[in-house]
Amino acid sequence: MPKNKLKYSIKTLKIGLMEVHKLQSWIVPITIFDSVFKSIAPFINIYMVGKIIDRLLKTKDINNIIFLIGLTIGLNFIIHLISNGLEHLHTILKDIMIQNQDMKINEKIINMDYEHIENPKTHTLRTKISEAENMNGGGIIAFVRYLGELVKGLATVIISIIIGAGLFKLDMTGVGYLNFINNRIFSYGFLVLVLLGTIFNLHLKTISDKKLFKHFSEIMSANRILAFYYERIQDYNAGKEIRLYNQRKIFNEEVGGFIQSLKGLFKKIESMNTKYSGIDAFISSLLGGMVYIFVGLKAISGSISAGSIVQYTGSINQFMAGSTEILTSINNIINNNQYLQLYIDFLNIEGEKYKGTIPVEKRDDNEYEIEFRNVSFKYPGTDEYVLKNVSVKLNIGERLAIVGMNGSGKTTFIKLLCRLYDPDEGEILLNGIDIKKYDYEEYMGLFSIVFQDFKLFSFSLGQNIAAAVDYDEKFVEKVIEDVGFIDRLETMPRGISTPLYKDFDKDGVEISGGEAQKIALARALYKDSPIIILDEPTAALDPIAEFEIYSKFNEIVGTKTAFYISHRLSSCRFCDEIAVFHEGSIIQRGDHEDLLKDEDGKYYELWYSQAQYYNEGETA
Ligand code: ADP
Repeated sequence: MPKNKLKYSIKTLKIGLMEVHKLQSWIVPITIFDSVFKSIAPFINIYMVGKIIDRLLKTKDINNIIFLIGLTIGLNFIIHLISNGLEHLHTILKDIMIQNQDMKINEKIINMDYEHIENPKTHTLRTKISEAENMNGGGIIAFVRYLGELVKGLATVIISIIIGAGLFKLDMTGVGYLNFINNRIFSYGFLVLVLLGTIFNLHLKTISDKKLFKHFSEIMSANRILAFYYERIQDYNAGKEIRLYNQRKIFNEEVGGFIQSLKGLFKKIESMNTKYSGIDAFISSLLGGMVYIFVGLKAISGSISAGSIVQYTGSINQFMAGSTEILTSINNIINNNQYLQLYIDFLNIEGEKYKGTIPVEKRDDNEYEIEFRNVSFKYPGTDEYVLKNVSVKLNIGERLAIVGMNGSGKTTFIKLLCRLYDPDEGEILLNGIDIKKYDYEEYMGLFSIVFQDFKLFSFSLGQNIAAAVDYDEKFVEKVIEDVGFIDRLETMPRGISTPLYKDFDKDGVEISGGEAQKIALARALYKDSPIIILDEPTAALDPIAEFEIYSKFNEIVGTKTAFYISHRLSSCRFCDEIAVFHEGSIIQRGDHEDLLKDEDGKYYELWYSQAQYYNEGETA
């Protein structure tokens, strides 16, 4: 491994270990204990059976032999008891650790700046972490498992050396022609042979592990695509499209193709496994045979006792198994680093944008002045400016409409205003001070916003509107009335406590797009902020509901400042001022009448291109 890569790997491991400790501080010590006890278990039999055989051959002291057998059974019992206890504890701690990890990831997501949430890189990272964990057993949990295997391998090798080293003592003597077995060259020659054989097998294992890991990555990519298709198939919204456009065939063919490629991969893995495990079995049996011959000859020559045959053959076999385990776990730890790194990268997503400290002035007259000064912005990871040098002063206390074609930058303008993103160039000022300098929560408290792609959750209607567990029922009912939802409320089985959707409760109600939009509007009104912003506020409403909302709007909004974003110009006519967005800039401002006077202007063009849909009386 190149030096830099090694340094990098060690750094990842260090951070991984610290992260494991933070998630569950007891899991590493318990894993170590558990592994050590697991490695001790086989040696009890190896050691004690040897001793019992020797006693059987040497003495006829039945009591002593019964004592040794009892001791063996007792030791086995104790070690297995402790080992089982530790394993249970380990499983419990591991489950806690998995939950803590999920919580940590969720907390990270919920506290992350919005721009990271919208960034595809964040999604890819999150998906990869889940995939690695669910499909490949890679990541932080796997790291703990491999660590345990490494400790177990190390302990096995150490104990086997302690118990087996006696075989290579040079002062052994035997009788007759077989004494050559104690010869220094022969003894060391045999030792070197065992080590070489073991190293060869380990080398083989490294190669096959590497290949296996490579195949796992391929399986992961194929699984990702499969999971995507399965998710779509199960989504009942997609069910409509699949049936209406008869897309079953595309799905079947695409899914079939991937299943086929997965089958091919499994076959490859299978044949690779057969090849490598065949060679491994051959070398291992050869080595095993040699060990039995060597130890047997020592026993026949009288250099060691008959009972020691069990002790020495057992420890050499354990030595070989332990070394394989060490190497496998090291390979796994190194290969797993890439998955561990995903988790570390995710936690390292630079979260916090600058959040100032200046309190926002509470004004009864709602006299706030907002100014965009030469603001330009492009979305992270893109090259094109979505807003270009926008300068505008917003008259607070009025109704401002923001109009323009799709994609002209209207929503982005609002996202910047409410600090979901910060401008790349220029600044946004509230009462003359850069909005970044204000206390973030207080600043956000100035805005009630209904985005076009608002979301409601599977809580009760009241909780959705109040965005809180406990709420003022009277006020919830008032805003429900204001947005024209009262008739629908009366049909709800548990009034404002009725859950939305059926995810958690069978009494949950399904709601239409228009109804959802009214609830979202009610949520904005409940927040009761001085500035209310509505992004295509009536897009999902029927004409009557739309009319009701508009006719009541002045009453609903009261003294608040209201910004409307819409591509439907007729719904903005009643605003005091209209700003026309085009290709990321504000190109016109004024009231409806003024704007229409400029026959070369964008507003004129937009108005008359839509006017054909309204009757003459309305457009006039
Ligand atoms: P409007 O509200 O006027 O329809 P938007 O402000 O939503 O327009 O979008 C302006 C441009 O920015 C569009 O070209 C859109 O594709 C792009 N855009 C919007 N959101 C993102 C995003 N999260 N990442 C990259 N580009 C985006």
